[in-house]
Amino acid sequence: MKTISQLVAGFVAGTYTPTQAVADYLQTIKQRDPEIHAFLATYQAEAVACAEAATAAYAADTYTDQPLLGVPLAIKNNILIKDHVATGASKILEHYTAIYDATIIERLRAAGAIFIGSTNMDEFAMGGSTENSAFGPTQNPHDLSRVPGGSSGGSAAAVAAGMAPAAIGTDTGGSVRQPASYCGLVGHKPTYGAVSRYGLMAMGSSLDQAGPLTHSVADAKLLHDVMSGLDPMDGTTIATDTYPKVLTKATYTFGVPRSFMADGVDPDVLEAFDQHIASLEAAGHTVVDIELPLFEQGLAAYYIVMPAEVSSNLARYDGIRYGHSADGKDLLEVYEQSRAQGLGAEVKRRILLGTHVLSSGYYDAYYGKAEIVRRKMRQELAQAFTTVDLIVMPTAPTPAFKQGEQADPLSMYRQDIFTVPVNLTGVPAISFPMGTVEREGTPLPVGVQYIAPHAGDERLFDAGVKIYDTSLSTK
Ligand code: GLN
Repeated sequence: MKTISQLVAGFVAGTYTPTQAVADYLQTIKQRDPEIHAFLATYQAEAVACAEAATAAYAADTYTDQPLLGVPLAIKNNILIKDHVATGASKILEHYTAIYDATIIERLRAAGAIFIGSTNMDEFAMGGSTENSAFGPTQNPHDLSRVPGGSSGGSAAAVAAGMAPAAIGTDTGGSVRQPASYCGLVGHKPTYGAVSRYGLMAMGSSLDQAGPLTHSVADAKLLHDVMSGLDPMDGTTIATDTYPKVLTKATYTFGVPRSFMADGVDPDVLEAFDQHIASLEAAGHTVVDIELPLFEQGLAAYYIVMPAEVSSNLARYDGIRYGHSADGKDLLEVYEQSRAQGLGAEVKRRILLGTHVLSSGYYDAYYGKAEIVRRKMRQELAQAFTTVDLIVMPTAPTPAFKQGEQADPLSMYRQDIFTVPVNLTGVPAISFPMGTVEREGTPLPVGVQYIAPHAGDERLFDAGVKIYDTSLSTK
């Protein structure tokens, strides 16, 4: 399967054209998506027209500064693309059409990208398997009986099945990195504020970031460089000097939080992880054990902070302003019926939980405490980064699980143990494949996660290119 860099090299050399590329991806979608269901919609006519324009621009050499010219991308359906239906995989927005481009879409478009379709996801990005979509689940291309991960499962499955060279997802607690791990891809969660949230459906505003799902770390960097940067429409975006510069190095010191990984990690995943650690040492990097005791509280803090923000953000879906509106004898009944009919079970569970932890009498006991834990976690992490350059751990405790296997929401939440501390602290992280583990005779990919200090995205890309991309070229 081609990377973005390979596609663009072919376009520039004239050995392949955007028109051919779009036709090839649309053909693969036609063949494979009926069983995978990665896409909620494809934008066939528009993609073909954009591809023709890009092909003409390459032929006439009339393009400048368009690093993604003619590159098809799949976009998670909680990211607004003007004049296209944006559902967030929720019934309540089934017929909602976006009236503007998200900032990241505007930037990708200006860089020459072509949007080939919108991808399935857990409703409003709440979940870790894409089983919470109101429009039916997505299957993992490596084993159709398994989940692709979530909530950006459609984006991950689209890339893993060769239906797009790369995709964009969003990551509130792991939703780019965990599906990357389950589908054998690279997934990047940027430093909080590096990428504008304008035009993204808000889930947990202090946690959400959009990031790429790609075949190589170099491709992830390419997409991140296009999408990131200050945006007047999002006051939380950061400038290049907001945080101290994080340098790249020839070799890195990696910290492994061993005791954090002591419980509940699949033995095969641990074995793949230990092999990865051995390969780091063999390549001249230093690996030391570190302690991150508060990270173990991350899951508990996340499942208080996130639903609190969800309950507030989703108040806007009231049957008046957006989407589905039910009849009622008065305004209250319109609200109640629209939300009762339009929102799914997991979304309702989180709204209830969030409303509870924010209610008077419980606010200090739950929300206030979780925010304190979060602040302490940041201090703990800052301390760790005085001795190590990067933190390394598995992205998820298991490989992709079977559809329906994690029916208990709490066991599903436990899959997020290694990813949520990153969102709570706002630092960047990247996941890429560290090998496979076998289940019922099928090799399933598993990912390793590197975590860097705030604004250390470049360090992640540098380490990832050295350690992962070089292994790709020898395959
Ligand atoms: N699995 C996590 C959750 O359910 C992460 C979701 C996300 O990152 N959007 O909240």
